[in-house]
Amino acid sequence: MTLLDGKLLSEQIKAELAAEVEQIKLQGGKIPHLAAIIVGENPASQVYVSSKIRSCEQVGFKSSLVRCEAATTQEELLAIVQKLNNDPDVDGFIVQLPLPKHIDEEAVTLAIDPKKDVDGFHPVNFGRMAQGLPAFLPATPMGILEILRRYNIETSGKHCVVLGRSNIVGTPISILLSRKGYPGDCTVTLTHSRTKDLPAEVRRADILVAAIGIPEFVKADWVKEGAVVIDVGINRIPDESKKSGTRIAGDVDFEGVAPHCSFITPVPGGVGLMTVAALMMNTLKACKGEIYGK
Ligand code: NAD
Repeated sequence: MTLLDGKLLSEQIKAELAAEVEQIKLQGGKIPHLAAIIVGENPASQVYVSSKIRSCEQVGFKSSLVRCEAATTQEELLAIVQKLNNDPDVDGFIVQLPLPKHIDEEAVTLAIDPKKDVDGFHPVNFGRMAQGLPAFLPATPMGILEILRRYNIETSGKHCVVLGRSNIVGTPISILLSRKGYPGDCTVTLTHSRTKDLPAEVRRADILVAAIGIPEFVKADWVKEGAVVIDVGINRIPDESKKSGTRIAGDVDFEGVAPHCSFITPVPGGVGLMTVAALMMNTLKACKGEIYGK
């Protein structure tokens, strides 16, 4: 079994991005600038946004963080989005989800200029992705593709089973892995809460992507010998042996499943770090006009 080391890969990607920023500086070009909007005090969101801003610093990108009170109205938030859309110095920006209940996430996502949508959540980017056109890919699926690519994992003709059909992970990764080319050319089964006999579906997987948000849901006897397992889940569960009283668990029972795999991502240290690395890659693409031109 080989561990798919998201920490190592994300460090490599950040080093590559930092080297490119150095070149841009030498040539007097524009430094990539990522902005992030955070609304309210959700602790998990604070951690994610800080990690994104820290990564910008590590690679030499410019970053700005717009902090909004939990009581910010939808109109106020949409005005901030418009301001970032119109700011020529900002190459890309994200609105950290989830948003407070009184704000319509869909309306906010739709307001983002697709050319600056480095999270790849706008339907224009999603549609372009689905058709195989140049697009900002959603960061978590893009991070998964990068893991497969950088570990040279064969995907052509493989049976991939995706657990979960969210718009940000399950559905896009199922589309991306079924697309022509590498990593892709898989035969994909997309499973969800209405799937009958989930363990039987999972047992058919050469490549399993688990993104459902239930800690240690996938058990050892569900996984085919030699399967590649990508665990997207980030779940906080009680653990009395930890000072904090909790630990982070994936959607896969790692201890039970790992001995049966050819490759597996750990949680933490797997897909989560690659999501941030992918966001940085998208920001550089935005700055260079690689998707939509300058
Ligand atoms: P979501 O909650 O939006 O969707 C969950 C999906 O799982 C749904 O499609 C649902 O049909 C399916 N599901 C729920 N219960 C099921 C069951 N019993 N059997 C089969 N399917 C079931 O999920 P999401 O936003 O894709 O997140 C999934 C997990 O991934 C969460 O733990 C989340 O924290 C994590 N996540 C991690 C990253 C990362 O960067 N690593 C990014 C996004 C999400």
